[in-house]
Amino acid sequence: MPEYANIIIDISHEKLDKIFQYRIPERLRPDIKVGARAVIPFGLSNREATGYVVGLTGEASYDPEKIKEIKGIVPGSIPIESQLIALADWMRENYGGTMNHALKAVLPIKQKTAEKKQRLVSLSISQEEAEEQLALFEKRHHTARARLLLALMQESPIPYEAVVVKLNISVAVIRAMKKMGILGIEEKRLYRSPFGAIRQDGKPITLNEGQQKAVDTIWQEWEQGRRRTYLLHGVTGSGKTAVYIALIERVVKAGSQAIVLIPEIALTYQTVVRFYQRFGDRVSILNSKMSQGERYDQFERARQGDVDVMIGPRSALFTPFSNLGIIIIDEEHEASYKSETLPRYHARETAIARAGMAGASVVLGSATPSIDSYYKAGQGEYALLELEGRIEEKPLPACHMVDLRKELKQGNRSILSERLQGLMEQRLRDRQQVMLFLNRRGLASFITCRSCGFVPKCPHCDVSLSQHNNGKAVCHYCGYEEPIPRVCPSCGSEYISGFKAGTQKIEEIVKARFPKARVLRMDFDTTRKKDGYEKILTAFSNQEADILIGTQMIVKGHDFPNVTLVGVLAADLSLHVSDYRAAERTFQLVTQAAGRAGRGGLPGEVVIQTYSPEHYCMKLAKSQDYKKFYEMEVAYRSLMHYPPCGHMMVMLVASEDEMTASLCMELLAGKIRQAMEGGKLQGLSVVGPASPPVAKIKDIYRKVMYFKHGSYQELVGIKDVLEQFVGRHREFVRVTVQFDFDPMGGF
Ligand code: ADP
Ligand code: ZN
Ligand code: ZN
Repeated sequence: MPEYANIIIDISHEKLDKIFQYRIPERLRPDIKVGARAVIPFGLSNREATGYVVGLTGEASYDPEKIKEIKGIVPGSIPIESQLIALADWMRENYGGTMNHALKAVLPIKQKTAEKKQRLVSLSISQEEAEEQLALFEKRHHTARARLLLALMQESPIPYEAVVVKLNISVAVIRAMKKMGILGIEEKRLYRSPFGAIRQDGKPITLNEGQQKAVDTIWQEWEQGRRRTYLLHGVTGSGKTAVYIALIERVVKAGSQAIVLIPEIALTYQTVVRFYQRFGDRVSILNSKMSQGERYDQFERARQGDVDVMIGPRSALFTPFSNLGIIIIDEEHEASYKSETLPRYHARETAIARAGMAGASVVLGSATPSIDSYYKAGQGEYALLELEGRIEEKPLPACHMVDLRKELKQGNRSILSERLQGLMEQRLRDRQQVMLFLNRRGLASFITCRSCGFVPKCPHCDVSLSQHNNGKAVCHYCGYEEPIPRVCPSCGSEYISGFKAGTQKIEEIVKARFPKARVLRMDFDTTRKKDGYEKILTAFSNQEADILIGTQMIVKGHDFPNVTLVGVLAADLSLHVSDYRAAERTFQLVTQAAGRAGRGGLPGEVVIQTYSPEHYCMKLAKSQDYKKFYEMEVAYRSLMHYPPCGHMMVMLVASEDEMTASLCMELLAGKIRQAMEGGKLQGLSVVGPASPPVAKIKDIYRKVMYFKHGSYQELVGIKDVLEQFVGRHREFVRVTVQFDFDPMGGF
């Protein structure tokens, strides 16, 4: 039984690193747990203080003679911090990393921040003048201006943030209207809910049969005290959000609270407003643009019981609600639920762990559930609930597949197939909108030789260089640049140029082909600036453009009723990456992209262009047949022992010194192989060690090794042993060893 407890006295950013060790007296040993509140003597005067236990250990970290003893455990109600600390401990245990990393992810950290002033937008003209102005705006089709003016005529002032986020008005529009003397902007030193301006209209919709059945199932079990994880599967527009809202309403009425996770990119005005209309000021929202202080404010409101519902991305999971009743995870298949920094937790699994501690239910929702979750539902671990079809029976868009190889044979070297061009022409004529989707991750185009396939790479980072407008080839990790070669250094061919699939390049092609069309581009480059993302979406939804070109950020969550054509330009781009989830991700992206067409009254069409139309992923995305896709995919995973048919762990060893990294990796790999040869570690298979796709970042050398096993806990055990082993070896103090479980992209 552990003899010592590590304790933090105060939960604030500076203090989190100050962990004090205390001896646990015999009598307390059976009861003490991570998260417990302990009474301890503190400081020179040994005044009585309380602290939280964040770890238990058998080893004293300094002279045992000098370690003081815990006086007692605080009885009575368990504060929410205890639960979150226990959750941090669970995360450390299951994902690796230190307790400190985990605590920092989980605890609402007090920070001294300057008082935030709130900006308010108010109407500066009389109602009569406003009416005249409104008529003018409407006449000129200044829809955004008209929308803001109308809102201000109904209610003034409105918080600045609500104008931008909720009313979807760009900063430029606000500025212009201020210049015209229509509105004023004042500052107020008062904290209010971020959406003070939107009125609450409590009109509940009548759920349809399928929705009602889902709500009833979950709610009946909830009332009976049964807590579990549900997977709600239904196509986009099938009414999942309405189910969430109905459930939350009941949970809140019963005196509990709710957390709703939505991927940041899908956290749109339309979604948030629906929750606001139901729960008014009792709902709060988090987003990544908030400062630490603002986030802390929202967490504080939650802790004090001022809100019942918290909506936000991954980190909203740690909202300090003391009586949490339900956690909803919308679009549960999204890769953004997996943290890419330490601790590398998955929000879905962590939500289930938190729900277990808090006595809450979990509802996962998706149109294309992750293979993991659907598999668990098949195993009975989650309860599966299905919503059939779309509300109002709106048909799914018609879907055409184009074989790009044939296009090339027929002499069309453009990335726009004949079919797509024809349909685009039609849409432009009919004044409807088009979205062109490039199925790849952010970043600009890479350079390739069309004769031999040579791709120039960064000498420091081992990634492909990107083509920039200034004629340079640039590394996106470290900034290294060199001139773009005029002839191929490998074969001497002159056909070396940027790969035609960069969004910028596509914009040029589209503009050349449709010179009269108004084109917007949304990608990593155009959204890097603050508000860039909203500006583009606002402009497109105000129909200030005919064609929107973008990476996957354009396919999530947004409703553009006038979009009737979606083109997936090269669906293969995400299919042939070296990742066992490539087909899953491609299926999701193509299905989602297709779901963007025909959201309004007009029917939609989709064109999927691909070099591999025979791949099951393409065929089934075209017919939107999730279940069939799932079956094919699970057969493949099962054959290869990939998750969910088994588990995978990656170990990353990184060091400034290549020799040290290699040595450390060899030692660890050797230790594992030795144990395997000795008949231990039954069921384990290893791959590597090897250099990862990015073998070197900023001159840090990296090596990876993959472990596969049927049992997650076995892998956790191996991680523990390897972590301890490295910790004992002084020569490896400058080596970083990290683990990632069931990686999604990984290192
Ligand atoms: P999902 O979350 O699955 O995409 P939503 O809940 O957003 O689906 O529903 C799609 C649309 O249908 C929304 O505009 C919503 O207001 C509406 N809706 C949902 N359920 C009903 C219902 N029972 N009756 C009428 N309209 C509904
Ligand atoms: Zn070449
Ligand atoms: Zn580089």
